[in-house]
Amino acid sequence: SLTLGIVGLPNVGKSTLFNALTRSDVLAANYPFATIEPNIGIVPLPDPRLDQLAKVFSSVRTVPATVSFVDIAGIVKGASEGAGLGNKFLATIREADAICQVVRVFDDGDVIHVDGKVDPLADVETVNTELILADMQTIEKALPRLEKEARTAKDRKPVLEAAQAAAAVLDSGRTLFSARDKIDLGLIRELTLLTAKPFLYVFNSDEGILTDPEKRAELAAAVAPADSVFLDAKVESELLELDEESALELLESVGQDEPGLHALARAGFHTLGLQTYLTAGPKESRAWTIKQGATAPQAAGVIHSDFERGFIKAEVVSFADLIAAGSMAAAKAAGRVRIEGKDYVMVDGDVVEFRFNV
Ligand code: GDP
Repeated sequence: SLTLGIVGLPNVGKSTLFNALTRSDVLAANYPFATIEPNIGIVPLPDPRLDQLAKVFSSVRTVPATVSFVDIAGIVKGASEGAGLGNKFLATIREADAICQVVRVFDDGDVIHVDGKVDPLADVETVNTELILADMQTIEKALPRLEKEARTAKDRKPVLEAAQAAAAVLDSGRTLFSARDKIDLGLIRELTLLTAKPFLYVFNSDEGILTDPEKRAELAAAVAPADSVFLDAKVESELLELDEESALELLESVGQDEPGLHALARAGFHTLGLQTYLTAGPKESRAWTIKQGATAPQAAGVIHSDFERGFIKAEVVSFADLIAAGSMAAAKAAGRVRIEGKDYVMVDGDVVEFRFNV
């Protein structure tokens, strides 16, 4: 499955956050036979629709979609030259499908900052500069080969041009992700460039920031189009020790109405380019993970590859219509259940039953 790699400078709260993520790990509960890797945290994607579906269908259990985070060692200045855990760090990050950058915003005299002061946007630049430098090296190394290929094979010319355009973006100090509207990054996927991956920023904040919408908007705008999540990693880890009522009280005291991990799971899922559709029955109500833009047969294939091969049609009702009707039979009677064919593009919140040949 797709993963987000957690990166950031030392002492910004990565371990604190990752520990909170692993403690809410759903693997043990729902996938007892899966191997649990120590550096992977698999968290549920919060989805209140599942409980509602479970009521309508009297499902025995609900199974949420999940989001996977990989813990990657801290980055330091000079990592692209091999400083710190430089090379190992870059290799691990290359394997992740998206980058989840933890940034320190919290003020705490007891926690030393590697650069001596708390300056979130300067930290973002420090980390991104290392990633950008690593990408520049990758492209410089590849260019002679791409030039040679473009001379003999016509279809390699767009690849060369995309690599040259990417080099120019990196030269100007920007990530490729931020220029994804201008360059067809798909053309240079083979180079597995780090900054071409989707970015998500986690601003590890204190109460002062969490309750300051202007400051939050300013930070979010500075890293857009990437998604931003604001949370207090220390509070998140404390929440897991509390019963629901005390947890809600603690959240309220820092101006939040839900755990930051929920927002993080949603943002991570979105950043990975994923969406869900739903199935429901007496056994379970379940959210299934598909790529944004997946067709009905591709969605069926997530349940079982035979379902994709033998796909005939999908019976689809939107979650809202189903809940409004009160039951599948009532939704059918009201003409709300559509028959969709193999070209149908799935919409988030579709409740689906597939028909297939085996
Ligand atoms: P890492 O080096 O990025 O993994 O950072 P750690 O998670 O080890 O955190 C470094 C220090 O900062 C630890 O002493 C944490 O307890 C503390 N810390 C982490 N998150 C927060 C936070 O949100 N607020 C405060 N005040 N301290 C934090």
